[in-house]
Amino acid sequence: MSHSSQKEPSGQGNSLSVIRRSRMRLLVCFLTFPVYAWAITALLNQGNDITLYMILYMIIYAVFGINASVKRCPSCGEQFFVRKYFLNPFTSSCQHCGLSYHSESQ
Ligand SMILES: [Zn+2]
Repeated sequence: MSHSSQKEPSGQGNSLSVIRRSRMRLLVCFLTFPVYAWAITALLNQGNDITLYMILYMIIYAVFGINASVKRCPSCGEQFFVRKYFLNPFTSSCQHCGLSYHSESQ
């Protein structure tokens, strides 16, 4: 029995990886926009009704956006990606205390 120990304080690392994943989803959404625009154009050219696809895409955006914006920093408890009213999906550190979510990656 070497050091089986008490539980490590893994709570912080855990929520940081949750934060990282929610940001990844939002970024994927951003990055796939050209694909979406291309698909919509193709559908339009074939005379399809794209209203449903537009709404679906907006819902996906809203869900991922809200999902990211409600994430709380495990260090300071503030909204990780939100400074004032603006969601910043390109940041890799807390908008309030500067905690980086890369700090748990090793
Ligand atoms: Zn913070």
